[in-house]
Order: sequence, then C-alpha cells, then structure tokens
Amino acid sequence: MEEQEKVCDFCMRLVPEAVWEIHSVHCQRFLCLCEICAELVPRSRLKDHIVEDHPTQSCPHCTDLIPSDVFSSHLQRCELRPQPCPFCTLEFPIEQLIAHQEICSNRTEQCTLCGLYVPRRDFPYHVVTCKPGANGSLKRKRTEEAAGVPKRAKRQ
Ligand SMILES: [Zn+2]
Ligand SMILES: [Zn+2]
Ligand SMILES: [Zn+2]
Ligand SMILES: [Zn+2]
Ligand SMILES: [Zn+2]
Repeated sequence: MEEQEKVCDFCMRLVPEAVWEIHSVHCQRFLCLCEICAELVPRSRLKDHIVEDHPTQSCPHCTDLIPSDVFSSHLQRCELRPQPCPFCTLEFPIEQLIAHQEICSNRTEQCTLCGLYVPRRDFPYHVVTCKPGANGSLKRKRTEEAAGVPKRAKRQ
C-alpha cells in the first residue's frame, strides 16, 4: 500500500501521515526556528546556537547588535557613523555633521599663498584660481609673511 505523506506545518518536511500529528507536536515542542539562519534548532539549544553560530557585536555608533560576519561592513554603512567634515578634520554623526558643515564652511581661512581670507567652502576653487605674486612685489611680500608666520592659534 502507498504511504501518504503530509507536509509538517512547522518544519516543512514531508512526514508520513500516520505519524504526522505526533511529529507536529514533537516538532513544535522540541524544535524552534532560528530567525537568523532559518534553521530548526532544538528549543533548549537555541540560546547556545545563537551565541555560538551567530556571534554579534554591539555597534559603537547605533548600539545595535550586529552579526560579527557583517560587522565591519555595518561600521562602514551605519547611519550613525561619524563622518569627517570636508572643511576640517573633525568627525561627526551625520545629523550633527549637516549643522556643523553649515557653520564650518562659512569660517574663513587665510590662504597661505596670497594671504586672502577665504570662506572654507570656496577654498577648493580659490586654490585653483589663486595667483600669488601675479600682481607685483607687494603681494609676494605678504605671501612670504603669511607662509612664515602660522596664525593658526589666533584664528577661531
Ligand atoms: Zn516537523
Ligand atoms: Zn541560526
Ligand atoms: Zn551601527
Ligand atoms: Zn568642520
Ligand atoms: Zn590665495
């Protein structure tokens, strides 16, 4: 005679119909589904299974628990990771960075080549167009002064 088989609702395996009910009860009672790897794990071992097979690390930025195997890529992509301000070397979480950049980009910085004070946001363009000494000796002299005396401590 042909044995009928039925899919277990829990483990999705084909089980002979004769033992299906017993199997289901057993399945539900003793096994449980690991949400991380979708494997069936004995209920009593689930905690150990997660600790051993899915080690996690706490993200220092968002404090989420991140599986160790994707931890380094999470650090690169974490929404709360600090990002460097393009205008200075400081790092800020993204929502603070936007506010900081607004202030930071408006700060002026003295060009060491021509001595002009230029807003940081314009600096990349200024460096390209800056022509120190092109207009005679006065400018060249100021250039030398600016280059020789660092005024970093006074500026803020
Ligand atoms: Zn089952
Ligand atoms: Zn698992
Ligand atoms: Zn994170
Ligand atoms: Zn900045
Ligand atoms: Zn300049």
